[in-house]
Amino acid sequence: MPILYYSTNLQAEPVSFREALLQGQAPDRGLYMPQAIPTLSADELRQFAAMPYYEIAYSVLRKFLQGEIPDNDLHAIAKDAYEHFPVPLEFVYQQKYVMRLDRGPTASFKDFAARMMGRLMQYFLKQEQRKLLILTATSGDTGSAMANAFYGLDNINILILYPQKEVTDRQRKQMTTLQQNVKTLALDAKFDDCQTMVKRAFADTDLGYLNLSSANSINIGRLMPQIVYYVYAYARLCNGEGEIIFSVPSGNFGDLMGGLFAKAMELPVKKFVVATNANDEFPNFLNTGEYHKVAPSRDCISSAMNVGHPSNVARLIALYGGQIDETGKIGKMPDMDRLRRDMFSISVSDDWTKTTIKEAHDRYKLLLEPHGAVGWAGLTAYFKECPQEDTPEQVCVCLETAHPAKFPQEIQAILGFDPILPPSLDGLEHQPEHIRNMANDYETFKQYLKANY
Ligand SMILES: *Cc1c(COP(=O)(O)O)cnc(C)c1O
Repeated sequence: MPILYYSTNLQAEPVSFREALLQGQAPDRGLYMPQAIPTLSADELRQFAAMPYYEIAYSVLRKFLQGEIPDNDLHAIAKDAYEHFPVPLEFVYQQKYVMRLDRGPTASFKDFAARMMGRLMQYFLKQEQRKLLILTATSGDTGSAMANAFYGLDNINILILYPQKEVTDRQRKQMTTLQQNVKTLALDAKFDDCQTMVKRAFADTDLGYLNLSSANSINIGRLMPQIVYYVYAYARLCNGEGEIIFSVPSGNFGDLMGGLFAKAMELPVKKFVVATNANDEFPNFLNTGEYHKVAPSRDCISSAMNVGHPSNVARLIALYGGQIDETGKIGKMPDMDRLRRDMFSISVSDDWTKTTIKEAHDRYKLLLEPHGAVGWAGLTAYFKECPQEDTPEQVCVCLETAHPAKFPQEIQAILGFDPILPPSLDGLEHQPEHIRNMANDYETFKQYLKANY
């Protein structure tokens, strides 16, 4: 029997993976969650040690997608999505590593999810001869990763909303220099406003004819592929023995959810360090048991994490037996003891982020950009709090979620040099952009949709 997916608001029927993937958000505005979570055996984990990344991706995702997509097709999709770039585990000191998830075509970790999700969507849409309009809000990296992953696909149009003042020039260019089935809107607003706009369009019955879907991390198809690199890191570094600690720089908490699912699959994870920037609603929640979203969200140099009310908190709380709705109201408290056992959460200021970039480089020749630096700062904070964990044997992996060359101003100001551009970003400067500005007004947005799709 294939695994079914239920909504975190508990007011919608469970659906298949295919439906959850193509719908994005559940009709009751909840997020889809698997009803059952398959497990990984110690044997499998040992076998993964020497396998290419795409084989691990295939083996992990197959457990969730059995009965929905034939093994051969899934294998081909995983290979096509991941064969072309490495996933380096960079040694820092004594079993402490940085996993560089920044070698994909848009140099952010979001490539991992986007490439798999785009291919799965195309697979199912082709079978059904259906069309979709993907509507997505981005704080920078999602949009470019999605644009790149969906660019040129049949049966799929994609429209990306971004806060015009919160994305870097390079992030913007990665979206606005594409055309064909990829369109963008620059909103005079914050990321949270863009996200609200997208959510309203989904709930708007007048727009039902558009067959809207989301590519945000509210889509379960975005989450599944993010389980894989946690499994990969463990398999490569632990050889099937002991427990691992991950530090995850977090914004909308999709990345972290991938890790929590991996742990729920019985990957031996001792702790997740959940590192946020000044948007500290989650560390506060862990401390106090009270959830208050940060509104408006706070602007930080780790701009892709400027999220004051992460969508995936609904999933996180569901995974720990609680319930919270999309407005941030808790219906049922999760198991706080278990949450606190599995996670250590800390808010990292911009100053601390910058100092971390400097210190990591001076001390270890480790080159971090602001998001990864939040993660690394989080790990050092955890060691300060729990010095007994900072042993030479303890394997720790900090996720680096973007390439430092995406943040040339910050790196130049702090370290005094320009990081070398990865090949995928080279040449972007000279391509023409297509920018469309729009006010933060739902009616205007709705008229635009009706007129263009
Ligand atoms: C999106 C993003 C994050 C945050 O990931 P979430 O899944 O939203 O928590 C961190 N770093 C970078 C570079 C990102 O693009």
